[in-house]
This record gives sequence, structure tokens and C-alpha cells, in this order.
Amino acid sequence: GIRVFAEDWSSDVCSSDLATLKINDINKNFGKTEVLKGINLDIKHGEFLVLLGPSGCGKSTLLNTIAGLETSNSGDILIDNHNVNNMEPSDRDIALVFQSYALYPAMTVKKNVTFGLEQRKTPKEKIAKALDDVSNLLQITQLLDRKPSQLSGGQRQRVAMGRALVRDPKIFLFDEPLSNLDAKLRVEMRREIKKLHQKLGTTIVYVTHDQTEAMSLGTNIAIMDHGLIQQCDTPKNIYNKPESVFVADFIGSPSMNLIEGKLKKYDNDIIFMPNGSNDRIKIPVGNYSFKNKFENTELTTYLGIRPEHIYFDKINSDCFEIDLKSELLEYTGHEQIVTFDYFGQQVLGKFASTFDIEINKELKLNIDTSQISLFDKDSKKRI
Ligand code: ADP
Ligand code: MG
Repeated sequence: GIRVFAEDWSSDVCSSDLATLKINDINKNFGKTEVLKGINLDIKHGEFLVLLGPSGCGKSTLLNTIAGLETSNSGDILIDNHNVNNMEPSDRDIALVFQSYALYPAMTVKKNVTFGLEQRKTPKEKIAKALDDVSNLLQITQLLDRKPSQLSGGQRQRVAMGRALVRDPKIFLFDEPLSNLDAKLRVEMRREIKKLHQKLGTTIVYVTHDQTEAMSLGTNIAIMDHGLIQQCDTPKNIYNKPESVFVADFIGSPSMNLIEGKLKKYDNDIIFMPNGSNDRIKIPVGNYSFKNKFENTELTTYLGIRPEHIYFDKINSDCFEIDLKSELLEYTGHEQIVTFDYFGQQVLGKFASTFDIEINKELKLNIDTSQISLFDKDSKKRI
């Protein structure tokens, strides 16, 4: 049913309405195409979960399945531990905000926001109060009498969010809500959505293909690829401890360097020998926190190092000096990205633009071995 808004949005009345969402082994086929291949997610009260993945990986399908707009082939959706598989979308107490705002063009902003409540025969006073609260919150009070065609993209997105908010749903689903906006507005609206979440504390599942959006908004990020969740973790862990080559490569700009080589026990240490170095280079990695004790005699491995973790100075005792040849310099304003050659492998470094870096020069740089990731080349998984 419809709940009345609390006087104060940040009051306990709102937070008591928070909801959990469990997704248990969801499979979905379109004809012969498997689009969701056993999705499991456990979303807590007040969590802001971002589903991040390349176009076509199944994000919208999963969101629509949660909303009840699509039916899964198998698996369960539980809201507050109640199975909602057979529940109509309108009974799930979920609000969905799309990329295309889907506003009714002939209706005013006010009507667009309140239409759903009127359909549900909500008492007039409650509607007026809800409209008042939402339009203050989203700062659309001065737009209430306009038609959607008289609004900018950002204003339309606010109205679409208002229409979702006014229902005071248990869970918000957002499907790439900002991708129609220009870059500057996108960043502003991103901040607005984050503020809104801080204020209301509602459980949110938010779909995007934009990693910056995912990092800045999510309390957790689920990285999706080809209908599978590759990793679900905090933004910090996703960035610093990617579980797979896919995640390492997908996150970060430029993405993590993946240097191919051999991992070996050596004396009392474990070393990494980059391909092309004829075993002359032995990078000590014994301090790395292996997921399982390293028992192999030799393993073909990728050593992952982010471009910003390559330094000119030896910044700590974990630094290991390597010889690189600079080949290309890209200036981006406050930073510069340098492409190096390392025994025939490409390695990118990111530096403050105040450094003077010569091109086509042999340079000595440092990789901070406390910041590396190691991946088994065969399984593509973190070791
Ligand atoms: P995303 O939102 O991550 O871009 P989607 O969930 O929209 O991906 O789509 C995942 C895959 O399912 C795509 O290959 C897409 O072509 C396919 N797909 C989506 N909806 C349908 C549909 N109604 N019928 C057939 N195939 C679909
Ligand atoms: Mg989509």
C-alpha cells in the first residue's frame, strides 16, 4: 500500500521502510540465448548496489526481472525475505527510473508526478503533501505547471525521479538514468542522486556502464559480464583487489597493466620474471598476499600494476626498479599518460603533468610491489 511521507525525510520513519533484496540463482533465456546465467546477489538494507558491465551483458534484463517486467526461467527474487516471483510489478513496491524518462508529454510536471498516486485513489491531501515533499527535495517546485517539452534533460530526469520518489517505494531501481545527459550535468545529477540516497537511505540497485559513476555512487559494485557476476565488492576492493583479469581490465582509466611472465619460488622468496627478459629480471613478490599458499614450481602469470603505481622516485621499500623505454606521451591536463616498452610488452604510466618526460628514452622507474595483483594466465583469476 501507499505510505505517507514522514515530516522529515531523514527521520526514522523512512529508515524503518528500508528493504533487503535477495537474488537467488536467476537464469533467463531469450529463445536459445542465455542472458542471465545464475545470478546471485544479496543486497542489504539501505545499500546502493551498482550493476556495472559492458553493453549487452544483461544488466537491464536483471533489473527488469527484479521489477517483475520480465519473468526469469529459474531462480527466486526475495524482497524482505518474501518471494515475489509471482507478484505483479505494481505490487512489488519497487520504483524503476529509466534512461528515457518516459514522462507523459501531454501532462504537466505536477500531473506526471501525481498520476500514479491518483490512479491508486490516494487521498487528495496525501497526494498534495507527497508532491510538496518531493518537489522541494528535487527542487522542481517552479516547474510544476510546465509540460515535459518545456524542460531540459536534467529537469526531465528530476521529474522522472520525482515520479518514482512520490510513491515512497521500498526499493529504487535505476537503469542508466544519466546517460542521456551531457557530461557536466551527468556529474551534477550523480551528486544529487548520492545526496538523495544519503538522505533517504533507500535500498537502490543502479545500472550503468560508466565506471566513474559506479565508483562514486555505489556502496557495493557488482561487475557483470556475459550474464555472470564477476565480482561483487566495495569500490575500493574492486579497484585494488580485482578478482579476475576481466575486472582488472574493465576498471580504471587507463586500465591496469598486465605484464606476462613466470612466477617461481626462488631462494626463500617468490619472484616474477617478465617474458622477454630471458630470466634476467627477478621481481620479488614474496610479500604479496596470495589467496592460497603459492605451491607451484612455475606458473604463467600476469603481474597487474596500475599506471599510477609506477613512480619515478623510490617512494617506499617495496619499490622495485625497472628499465622502461618511453614511446608515447598523452597530455590530459592535470596528468600525462606515458606508454613504455618493457621487454616488448606495453606498460602505461600515469604522472603529474608537472614532470618533464622525454620520449624515446631509456628510463629507470619504480613499481610499487605492495600494490600489485597477480593472475593465473590460464584461469584469468586472482591468485
Ligand atoms: P544491457 O542492459 O547490459 O546492455 P540487456 O539486458 O539489455 O543488456 O541485454 C542482454 C542481452 O539480451 C543482449 O544480447 C540483448 O540483445 C538480449 N535481449 C534483451 N532483451 C531481449 C528480448 N526482449 N528478446 C531477445 N533478446 C533480448
Ligand atoms: Mg541496458
